[in-house]
Amino acid sequence: MKRFSVCFIALVSFAGLSRAQTPQSAAAPSAPRALANNDATYVKLRNIRVGEDTIPVKDFTLRRDAGTFLFKSGTFYLLEPVNGRITGAVFLGDAAFTLTPPIEVERRYLSILTKGQPFEEQFSGAVFRFTDGTDEELRKASTKSSAPASGDANGLLNDIRNQLRKKLRDNLDARLLEDVLSSRRGGKFEAFIKGRKYSDKMIYDVDPQGTLKPEEVALIIWDENRFGVWSAFHYSREYADGTANSDEQNGPFAIPHQKLDVTIEKSAKLNGTAVTTVAALQDGVRVLGLDLFPTLRVQSVTGEGGQPLSFIQEDKNEDPAFSVILPKELKKGELCIITTKYEGKDAISNEGGGNYYPIARSSWYPGLGFGSYGTYDMTFHIPKGMKIAATGRRLKEVDEGGENLTEWTTDVPQAVAGFNFGKFKREEGKPLKQAYLLETYVNPEPPDIVTSIQLAANGTGLEGNRMSGAALGTMSTVSLMKKAMAEAQLAIDIYTDYFGEAPYKRLAMTQQTAFNFGQSWPGLVYLPITYFFDSTVRHQLHMDDPHGYFKVVGPHEIAHQWWGHMVGFNSYRDQWMSEGFAEMSASIFIQYVYREHGLDDYHKFWADERHLMTERNKEGNRAVDVGPVTLGYRLQNARSGFDIPRRLIYPKGGYILQMVRFMLWESRAQDPDARFKAMMHDFTKTYANRPGSTEDFKAILEKYMVRDMDIDGNQKMDWFFNQYVYGTDYPTYKFEHSFSNDANGDVVLNMKITQSDVSPKFAMPVPVYLELSNGRVARLGTERLVGNTTVEEHVPLKGLKEKPKRALLAYYDDVLGNIENH
Ligand SMILES: [Zn+2]
Repeated sequence: MKRFSVCFIALVSFAGLSRAQTPQSAAAPSAPRALANNDATYVKLRNIRVGEDTIPVKDFTLRRDAGTFLFKSGTFYLLEPVNGRITGAVFLGDAAFTLTPPIEVERRYLSILTKGQPFEEQFSGAVFRFTDGTDEELRKASTKSSAPASGDANGLLNDIRNQLRKKLRDNLDARLLEDVLSSRRGGKFEAFIKGRKYSDKMIYDVDPQGTLKPEEVALIIWDENRFGVWSAFHYSREYADGTANSDEQNGPFAIPHQKLDVTIEKSAKLNGTAVTTVAALQDGVRVLGLDLFPTLRVQSVTGEGGQPLSFIQEDKNEDPAFSVILPKELKKGELCIITTKYEGKDAISNEGGGNYYPIARSSWYPGLGFGSYGTYDMTFHIPKGMKIAATGRRLKEVDEGGENLTEWTTDVPQAVAGFNFGKFKREEGKPLKQAYLLETYVNPEPPDIVTSIQLAANGTGLEGNRMSGAALGTMSTVSLMKKAMAEAQLAIDIYTDYFGEAPYKRLAMTQQTAFNFGQSWPGLVYLPITYFFDSTVRHQLHMDDPHGYFKVVGPHEIAHQWWGHMVGFNSYRDQWMSEGFAEMSASIFIQYVYREHGLDDYHKFWADERHLMTERNKEGNRAVDVGPVTLGYRLQNARSGFDIPRRLIYPKGGYILQMVRFMLWESRAQDPDARFKAMMHDFTKTYANRPGSTEDFKAILEKYMVRDMDIDGNQKMDWFFNQYVYGTDYPTYKFEHSFSNDANGDVVLNMKITQSDVSPKFAMPVPVYLELSNGRVARLGTERLVGNTTVEEHVPLKGLKEKPKRALLAYYDDVLGNIENH
């Protein structure tokens, strides 16, 4: 199921204006789509109806993983067979569905949604689609007696079919075709339940390819008021036998290489040829489901030797997923190459003044979406006078005829390929220490939205003067080009020292027309145009920046070269690492670069992070309370608020790595971060150019953990992960202290620390610091606190004759929580 896509690698601002919506333009021109949507088996699935067979049942129980259906009474209407196989049934009668997830995190989350009740839904109608032989089980359950329940089985089937096409925009027929055309037995089971209590728009899906990838089982409700993934997990047996893992690759095939040749016209229309290498990961692969932006319309697909292949791509406004039907099945390990010709508008938006906004950032070519690592050879043709910055290494650039032609290649597998282009001005530079090519790209001409703001501000715009009166100063982005270059120079050196060498050796800092977010692709950063405006202009745009967004966005996006790209993520459960580690990296950047006022900017950064997590949103929730970071973008729903992931996985993910840094901190070492750096280098080296999971990170950390961290005495960090990664604890600390002198004249620290608002087993080694009379801050040690508790200590500070200015907890913002230093 591709309806829940969550990859961002973006840093979204809460401030100010959002970018204008681009209007949908007219449909793509008609073209030779002769082999589109007309495979005979596909057409049968697409138009399937209820068949002749009915199966009456009574008190029949059907189990699919952690979900149990109880059909008290009623009738199954089997759908017509397709190639001799039954792929679905409609049920009418009286039934119930219960779900008990196999893991605690999911049981807890589901129970929040049901307000503490066990999950049970009553229903009188449901549509089942399957390739797992469910019909055999139904036949065995037949009571052979009672008369069919009354009701309109075809009506219900049509209702679900319409919802799939028009609301969910999910081509389930194409997914079923993969199994129907395969000699391998399928394992798909999807129930559309017309529930009475929670929702009549409920889906229970079990898919061996992963439904919320890579997790195979999910419960989804998609009506507006309760929208969300209520539960998702791996097969229960994978938890039982210890193989459940978010690194799991259960898709039927991989794409190790793509050769892309793309022409982009001045109007932003894109015309592409993709030569895609497919490698089967299992036997019986016949239909290839690919990710391609809906308005990019496929003209033709050919196999090796140029034979035309049948393909699926329905209306761009309905369920337009792209699939290719191979002439014969692939065996596990077998490779094949397909060539797709496609074109369309609206994948890129022409924003005026030679500014272009790439909308389809990971789906401008047919692939497996963000995070599926592969190598790329790319050729771009863009209008003459424009410049393009793409992912990978530039091999060639020529201006010939009416176009600018560039060729690009990759040295290592990438999570995604992409580009940014326009009437750019380019500057080059390099970091002080690293062998890197750095580039900045800005467009001296403003996009239409900025021009219209200027006109409005000057009182000549058609909409009149919406702005604050004074005419806006220059909104040229060129003068702040230097800032982007300087940030890249510094960040590359700092991050290489802390995290190890990133593989790309090239970074382009580019301007995009969006006002409120940045994004990072391998070797390519998209910065919001507002990044290049000075604070006067931002003020006039009502984009004042009390929480330091513009200080953080550059260093955050550059850090994604390590987090999200060098080390990727395969599952939404691990996205907190990509965003959180990028945030934490930005704090290291701030610590080293913004030193004008000591650590003031650094402390402000972490205060802003706490503010994000603990401020109530308009739905009344604090992000820290809503759920753990491993639920990622699933935490956004109508009830919790759609801003929860941004308020949680970024700052709390950052804090988790921040706490790790300071637990590994060796205050007396020449480089107190040496141990932390060694661990991070190990992590990036081990997981370079592929995904790394939360559990992978935990295992590396356990190699480097020190005695203070071994709370359970088993060389494991479970206590920490259970509290902060899989849990929702947000402790409060009260710290009171005084100084006295003992008989020897030594200064004694008398302190009282209270830990509260935590679960009984919550444990934390809390660092205590002294601010000495000369202003230096030194770590005294850590106090281990367990549960809601208060400890009092009298610590002689041997050899210290002069009283310190003060003592304090968590000076480096190195413990997540509400810290009250008195
Ligand atoms: Zn990010």
